[in-house]
Amino acid sequence: MRVDLLTLFPEAVRGPLEASILRRAVGKGLLEVRIWDLRSFGLGRHRITDDTPFGGGGGMVLRPEPVYEAVDAITRQGGRGRILLFTPQGRPFDQVAARRLSRREHLVLVCGHYEGFDERIRALADEEVSIGDYVLTGGELPALVVLDAVTRLVPGVIGPAAAEDSFAEGILEWPQYTRPREYRGMAVPEVLLSGDHGRIRLWRRREALRRTAERRPDLLESRELNAEDRKLLQETQRRP
Ligand code: SAM
Repeated sequence: MRVDLLTLFPEAVRGPLEASILRRAVGKGLLEVRIWDLRSFGLGRHRITDDTPFGGGGGMVLRPEPVYEAVDAITRQGGRGRILLFTPQGRPFDQVAARRLSRREHLVLVCGHYEGFDERIRALADEEVSIGDYVLTGGELPALVVLDAVTRLVPGVIGPAAAEDSFAEGILEWPQYTRPREYRGMAVPEVLLSGDHGRIRLWRRREALRRTAERRPDLLESRELNAEDRKLLQETQRRP
């Protein structure tokens, strides 16, 4: 997957690209990220990228020219890709969107900054994306959030473990344990040590359903449960 990331603050995105999953994906040749400094498309000798809002009011607004010209430059390098514009007014990002975007070959991530961006920049976007109902200083953290969530779903990046993550199947993940078997009086559930794969599968599914019912009942409301899940969920209401 190729990703072009447009930002006024390239230094804000470089660090995470050099660690963990993103670095590994780049190392394996599964991800290629190009960072475009919007300032280099700024106007005049001072590379101006912002201006005051027409109609007055506080704060500065990102001008349209640097973003349009950066997208033109990307297009000249071969293909426009799917353009995501980060804004708190966008569609809330979730695992379904991450999976959908992981099938794309080319994404263009546009980070806003300042008090916002000129409305005409929206015309460039294929999608407007929000990472939650709060306002951040810029689109760099949202772009990294989306890039991380999408990259781990690109085939070959982390293997089959992603299929078991929370939300992969629309519910939360079951509780995980590793060594030691007992720590400060807290023991690993006996079933996980039993070697009985059938019992382990049922326990995990039941605990995933229990956890989802307790913490995110909204996820279960929007889902059709099969007969086994309905039975396991009923059991969670009986047993502690
Ligand atoms: N005044 C804008 C508004 O109320 O919609 C918010 C501007 S915010 C200070 C600056 C930039 O940060 C936005 O243009 C956007 O790119 C990014 N941003 C902030 N919060 C975000 C969020 N929750 N999701 C996605 N992008 C966000």
